[in-house]
Amino acid sequence: MTFTLAIVGRPNVGKSTLFNRLVGKKLALVDDQPGVTRDLREGAGRLGDLRFVVIDSAGLEMAEDDSLQGRMRRLTERAVDEADICLFVVDARAGVTAADEYFAEILRRRARHVIVAANKAEGRAGESGALEAYALGLGEPIRISAEHGEGMDDLYRLLVPLS
Ligand code: GDP
Ligand code: MG
Repeated sequence: MTFTLAIVGRPNVGKSTLFNRLVGKKLALVDDQPGVTRDLREGAGRLGDLRFVVIDSAGLEMAEDDSLQGRMRRLTERAVDEADICLFVVDARAGVTAADEYFAEILRRRARHVIVAANKAEGRAGESGALEAYALGLGEPIRISAEHGEGMDDLYRLLVPLS
């Protein structure tokens, strides 16, 4: 049996970088084609022996500023509803922001399973950010680096019992 994993979180935390790592695409393909809005990007994800559908809320980067919050909410709700598991990404270096709290609230109400990932945590960076992420009340965050591939073993261990 397979499952659907939605990568959610505010813009710029590293969702697309993680998406590309899980589907095995080159980083050069991060950006969508100009003029093409694909709100929810879907791919075939793999991690170890796990195979799953992975969703990236890719349209957020193109949102108009004045409608960003409403658009983020609608997109996130769609991704959450399609997902068996939500991977909630925060930026461990930036710490938890008001936008993160906003997403956390949506996930608390709506998501079946949530894994919190404090990204950009390569080296010793982002230790305090990961602690802040714990206070979101969505479980113990894993520290990952989507760019450098760190923490993928922890992600695997959390996905296995949910898969
Ligand atoms: P998205 O808006 O959430 O999809 O974020 P992106 O994947 O587009 O990444 C936003 C920025 O964060 C880019 O400049 C990435 O190179 C950078 N980034 C992503 N993952 C990491 C990471 O693990 N460590 C660091 N230092 N930067 C990262
Ligand atoms: Mg993105």
